[in-house]
Amino acid sequence: MATEQLETLGSEDSKWLGEYSQVHMNVFGTPLRVMDHGKGAHIWDVDGNEYLDFLAGIAVNALGYAHPKWVKAVSEQAAKAAHVSNYFATEPQIKLAAKLVKLAGAPEGSRVYFGNSGAEGNEAALKLAKLYGRTLPGASPEIGGKPARIISMTHGFHGRTMGALSATWKPAIRERFEPLVPNFEFVEAGDIQALHDAFAETGQGKYGKGPVAAVIMELIQGEAGVMPLGADYVKAARKLCDENKALLIIDEVQTGIGRTGSWFAFQREDLSGGVTPDIITFAKGVGGGFPMGGMISFGAELSALFTPGSHGSTFAGNPLGASAALATLDVIEEEGLVANAEARGEQLRDGIASCGNPLFASVRGRGLLDAVELAHPCSHAAMNWALEHGLIVNAVAPNALRLAAPLIVTEQDVDQAVSILASIPADLPND
Ligand SMILES: *Cc1c(COP(=O)(O)O)cnc(C)c1O
Repeated sequence: MATEQLETLGSEDSKWLGEYSQVHMNVFGTPLRVMDHGKGAHIWDVDGNEYLDFLAGIAVNALGYAHPKWVKAVSEQAAKAAHVSNYFATEPQIKLAAKLVKLAGAPEGSRVYFGNSGAEGNEAALKLAKLYGRTLPGASPEIGGKPARIISMTHGFHGRTMGALSATWKPAIRERFEPLVPNFEFVEAGDIQALHDAFAETGQGKYGKGPVAAVIMELIQGEAGVMPLGADYVKAARKLCDENKALLIIDEVQTGIGRTGSWFAFQREDLSGGVTPDIITFAKGVGGGFPMGGMISFGAELSALFTPGSHGSTFAGNPLGASAALATLDVIEEEGLVANAEARGEQLRDGIASCGNPLFASVRGRGLLDAVELAHPCSHAAMNWALEHGLIVNAVAPNALRLAAPLIVTEQDVDQAVSILASIPADLPND
């Protein structure tokens, strides 16, 4: 983290940040501020400074902070039963699974598995893909076949647990932990020929590779800087998966739950070309701030591959998380927040494109998952300047700021964000 912003930190912030570093492993760097409480799209730090939050806990706080219906649902459930284990079930968990399948438009026989995070949703999907891979011709290692492969994209991000990390591209966060899970490989994101070539290696020669069990991708690569893969590419990937009996796993951890202006990004023709996935994973926004995630497998046949003992987690489908998620989905529906994400996103991108700040080279994204491309690599300086002026944004890449406002943002919130962004000095030094 840059040090210049530390000089303007309040005394309470500084005191707590000093203690933070004494008791936490240093995996996140020094936090920017110590936060106290929020309301709607605004949050206050321990010194009482107010911020308009256009990061929303990294695309998590769909309803902003302390939405009364969310608070009521979580409080009521906490007073009833916070946890029961998977020897038992609860009403909120059952209702939530049914609702997610419906919102995804998944066919009869589709099933949900709950975890507690995006990485866990992807771990579940990758394990299901491994079981599926064993059903492919020539792939069963037990009878001398070659283990099926899983293909992921350069610049993709799927989480930091060992399986999810095996599909995560960024060398700086992956390579020091290798060797990871075998039979994972990367193809150049957006290059149809490269994907074609990767599939074509199937079963060649004695030492050839096994068939492809699954391709995993984000339709907008969020951590890479909000980069859409392109509908033509996704369509081509679907076709190759169909021809080779491979699964298409779409990681909707960041793009899902209304964020891109549709319930899931794959439902946007301009992102997916209209394809139907075999598995989607979700997390971030679903719990409205409560840790919650999971996957939906499409169709009965695939869903039946997980049987008792195949997978699980103590907290999976926890009633407190399920209540938080149900309340989040209900409020998104009642308040028309999917449409709001689309409209406010358009307002935001238009506002940035026409604000006249020469620092901004371009703006991209869908709904409220957006990024501003900067004319030179000063994203940390720009983020800190915005923070000092009351706006939270994220330096997602050296020359890009990510904007992921809560879905409840108003027209005025967006105007205010644009006016702060417009006044970021264009001559900030490179980071
Ligand atoms: C954030 C993210 C993950 C990981 O989620 P965690 O909850 O941090 O484990 C996985 N995939 C995508 C696309 C993400 O944006």
